[in-house]
Amino acid sequence: MHAFRALETAAYCPRKLYYRRREGRGDVPDRVETVRSLAFEYEQLLTDDAALLAAPIEIDPAAYRDRLASAKASIDAWEQVADPPIRDADLEGREARGVAHKVLEEPLAPSLAFAGRPPENGVWEPQAVRLVAAAKALAWERERRVERAIAEYPAYGVVRPIDLTVRRTAAYNRAVRTAESIDAPPARLANDAKCGPCSFREECGVETRSAATMLGL
Ligand code: SF4
Repeated sequence: MHAFRALETAAYCPRKLYYRRREGRGDVPDRVETVRSLAFEYEQLLTDDAALLAAPIEIDPAAYRDRLASAKASIDAWEQVADPPIRDADLEGREARGVAHKVLEEPLAPSLAFAGRPPENGVWEPQAVRLVAAAKALAWERERRVERAIAEYPAYGVVRPIDLTVRRTAAYNRAVRTAESIDAPPARLANDAKCGPCSFREECGVETRSAATMLGL
């Protein structure tokens, strides 16, 4: 049984999953919890100026409110997103278990809140793997089909439903196989774009381009 987060990490970098397992790092940083809590305050952030100005958001408050208003207008199940029937649900499926920050009932879907920045469109692939894991676990528990999941980036006012496409499901299956097969340090990533923000970079021995530039190498 894999943690949703472990599958997300496997999709990001198998070597990072190896380090994380070895160190047993598991605590969620306070900042992440604080940002996630914004995902339960959308209606207040839309109407209460003081709450918006005090919130740990990463973009201009007016732009934040515009984004949230546009999500509210375009997402059918917005009422459940803003006031979810189930919060912080422990889900356990056939292959993975973890927490869905919200569970929407109609249509049945898990929602996960991510503390970081969203991509231009859609969701980052490792996060899509985590969303598929949550959707599959929910489907397993309820014995019902789950065809979509929701990615939330509360610090940026972005809420994006995603479909469980064949491509995303295939990425999830690859992550499960990867997580099952790691018993020695996997190779470092060939493309080091992901290494810059990686907390294991020193241990891994990867020299990122920015570090090399600073050193004049
Ligand atoms: S520094 Fe790069 S290669 Fe090493 S674990 Fe992190 S992401 Fe993977």
